[in-house]
Amino acid sequence: MCSGRVDMAFVLRALEQGADGVVIGGCKLGECHYVTEGNYHALNTAHLLKKLLQRAGLNPDRLRVEWISSSEGVRFAQIMNDFAAQLREMGPRGEGEGLDEEELRSRLAEIRNLIPYIKIAKREKLALRFDAEEEYEDLYTTDEVEEIFTELPSYYIDPEKCQACMICLRKCPVQGIAGGKNLIHVIDQETCIKCGTCFEACPERFGAIRAISGEAVPTPIPEDERALVRAGKNTG
Ligand code: SF4
Ligand code: SF4
Repeated sequence: MCSGRVDMAFVLRALEQGADGVVIGGCKLGECHYVTEGNYHALNTAHLLKKLLQRAGLNPDRLRVEWISSSEGVRFAQIMNDFAAQLREMGPRGEGEGLDEEELRSRLAEIRNLIPYIKIAKREKLALRFDAEEEYEDLYTTDEVEEIFTELPSYYIDPEKCQACMICLRKCPVQGIAGGKNLIHVIDQETCIKCGTCFEACPERFGAIRAISGEAVPTPIPEDERALVRAGKNTG
């Protein structure tokens, strides 16, 4: 698999499941067999990932990127041995950083869940490509990554405005919206990946979905109150 295909979620999942470190190995820069030159994308992504690992409380050196050609078996072995020794020194992931296992897993899962949103928020920078590897070093700052999380919007369906047209429910990529015919729709905040698709999809004449930042999302309407009462309809 091309190193450019290594999604941030793959690395986070490996760490969540107990890996103490991850190596992304790719062809040498400038030697990609394809026009896509995915290894530059892998390098860019890895720098963002390192900041995300830091935010989760992990040592960013638990992720390493190496360029190795297929004829460099000995070098590959040396790199892996060296990384294994480095990881032994750091200790098991989480434990080495003084983090509680459950807390660490939940932090990693939270970030993984938000990868689609993070990719949208950082799409312009993720598309940047530099010739020199050093130019990626300061591409992402800790403050900037923190900002992603503080500005992260939550989406909320106003029960007074929802017309149960089901458009948002059909478009949500993670089945994060509960609803049905003549039922006021509700977003499951745990499942939602903050992609904003529903916000864009809700017809303007209804305008039922709000993006909320910096304040708590209102409590969802109880299940037994979700039947839609249309204006002018006799409900008796
Ligand atoms: S923002 Fe809307 S469409 Fe996107 S995941 Fe959340 S509920 Fe689904
Ligand atoms: S698209 Fe808007 S009006 Fe239609 S079900 Fe979703 S929130 Fe309700």
